[in-house]
Amino acid sequence: HVQAPAAPVKTTCPYCGVGCGVLATPDGQGGAEIAGDTGHPANFGRLCSKGSALGETLSLDKRLLHPQVDGARTSWESALGTVAGSLRRIAEQHGPDAIAFYLSGQLLTEDYYVANKLAKGFLGTPHVDTNSRLCMSSAVAAHRRAFGSDTVPGCYEDLDEADLIVLVGSNTAWCHPILFRRMVDARAKRGTKLVVIDPRRTQTGEEADLFLGLKPGTDTALFSGLLAHLASTGSLDYRFVLDHTSGLDGALERARAIAPNVAATAAATGLSEADVARFFELFARTKRVVTAFSQGVNQSAQGTDKGNAIINCHLATGRIGLPGAGPFSLTGQPNAMGGREVGGLANMLAAHMHFAPEEVDRVRRFWGAPNIITGEGMKAVALFEAIERGKIKALWVMGTNPIVSMPRANQIRESLKGLDLYVVSEAVADSDSARATGKKTVLLPALAWGEKDGTVTNSERRISRQRSFLKAPGEARADWQIIADVAKRLGHAQAFAYSGTAAIFREHAALSAFENNGSRDFDLGGMSEIADATYAATPPLQWPLPKRGKGKTRLFADGQFYTFDKRARFVAVQAPALAQGVSEAYPLVLNTGRVRDHWHTMTRTGKSQRLSAHRAVPFVEVHPDDAAPLGLKEGDLARIATPHGTATLETMVTDAVRPGNLFAAFHWSAATASDARVGALVRGVPDPVSGQPELKATPAAIAAV
Ligand code: SF4
Repeated sequence: HVQAPAAPVKTTCPYCGVGCGVLATPDGQGGAEIAGDTGHPANFGRLCSKGSALGETLSLDKRLLHPQVDGARTSWESALGTVAGSLRRIAEQHGPDAIAFYLSGQLLTEDYYVANKLAKGFLGTPHVDTNSRLCMSSAVAAHRRAFGSDTVPGCYEDLDEADLIVLVGSNTAWCHPILFRRMVDARAKRGTKLVVIDPRRTQTGEEADLFLGLKPGTDTALFSGLLAHLASTGSLDYRFVLDHTSGLDGALERARAIAPNVAATAAATGLSEADVARFFELFARTKRVVTAFSQGVNQSAQGTDKGNAIINCHLATGRIGLPGAGPFSLTGQPNAMGGREVGGLANMLAAHMHFAPEEVDRVRRFWGAPNIITGEGMKAVALFEAIERGKIKALWVMGTNPIVSMPRANQIRESLKGLDLYVVSEAVADSDSARATGKKTVLLPALAWGEKDGTVTNSERRISRQRSFLKAPGEARADWQIIADVAKRLGHAQAFAYSGTAAIFREHAALSAFENNGSRDFDLGGMSEIADATYAATPPLQWPLPKRGKGKTRLFADGQFYTFDKRARFVAVQAPALAQGVSEAYPLVLNTGRVRDHWHTMTRTGKSQRLSAHRAVPFVEVHPDDAAPLGLKEGDLARIATPHGTATLETMVTDAVRPGNLFAAFHWSAATASDARVGALVRGVPDPVSGQPELKATPAAIAAV
């Protein structure tokens, strides 16, 4: 692990989807000095608390350094043989669709690509999903319904150039801090107004010019009301609508049925009429408006409709793909976008292709794939339910911790015991998911940040290199190498004979350009023959990067979309009640989310004392009106119960949450706290379009311990 001190290495932060550039200078003792990369266009040298503490997370403490089978250290040869042999046997006995992969937005694009290729082209199982299902799959579905493709239209510069920024379901100040700094700068420079829409008054809400603390799950009503208001006040761009879209009439009719005016919108959302009117007026009169949305929109049983309700308002005003204007999905993870690009979601194939027969055939021919899948696999919630039912016999988890982060985490942990094969590729030895077991359990040590090499794509379609600056510790290997080694043992040596990540990236880029006449948005043709040295040195670049012609910073400015008639689609959205209503036994609504200084299940940030000090213990936020009758005081331990599980958390009494609402952060695990797994509390009713589970509104009860 120890590497001689050297010149700074340009790499990319492994945490959120902002994708900040980092300069890492190895200190010669296994650590590194960390600084922001002033040349990176995502952050221009800035880093948030998590990014700047990366140097405190590099120790080998708690690392998985050697392969294990059923708890005993073994050789790579033996572990890989066990995985390949078991996969072959299970495929023969039960069919390939008894095998599932659960991937991660933490994987590099090259790792992701190879995993997807093995599963969907060579093993022949469609059941490949990723923790990105929990992150932004509703934004993906909303983009596809509106644009015909999963395309983020804008770029970060739009935040610098907007006159109004609307943040929906996003605590940007904590969860995308460097983007929030850009917004704060824009306010100082050009007086940009900030509207924050969130049931919880977060740090971001505190900074807003207008904070709209709406009732949980009523975002669609708010944006339906906005569409109706824009139409009734002559604020639509009919030229754009007529020339470049279809479906406005149906969408408008539905919007008017949901929230025809300011008063109805206020009633539906629980906001004051004055606040609703102010928001509508601001939006109507401001041309340069960016509506950025994140997990409060996506992690919902109505997340896709929420996304389309937002996009409808931008299409209706022609505010898309223009400087300072557009809907903007802020992705949570460092490589959620890269995962979408390689087809890591169960409803995608590869390179933004899906399952039209010509697309399946195109990918089959390109890969030379003997067992190409022909349809969608199960999405995360359904996939883990299939494990409970015994339909899935083998599960390979890579770089994620579903025993903490998935809804119904307790039931999932129990169900893994029935698997014939449970494989975990992981950097951490004691994560809850590494501690879980199947009938046969294989742990494969993977490289971590600072050791692995490849690319990630951030929220603005910018591909950046993650470069290694530390030696591989113990026997840890790159994820792509592990997957390729298994593929070779399954008889697919030629298709997985990669010399390194540059070779994988070339193939990925070539597939994106293969028979792509411009009808597909994702095109890296210009990088399909990139030399190893050029790949190694490549600067951050935004796709599309076609072979001929120029790439684009913004898309859709020309009004040309990726539907068959090139028109964008309005979507007639629905605004149902929350998927699970409160009851006498569970009278409160539990919202979940993040804290500023921890990332996911704390396997890295938990190593930094500085980061851990920000929120030292697992907590639940309770409104004073709910705390008082129960005798709950600040600092008391409280027991949260839902129909799915329980957790014991420290009480924070605050009016940041609405009366009747609770908030808890999901970071703590069995490895870091005794009884604080918030994933165990959540049911996770999936959105009917995207399959993304509801993580923001679970009926719950609270009592003093
Ligand atoms: Fe890393 Fe995100 Fe912070 Fe940037 S904003 S330093 S990408 S965690």
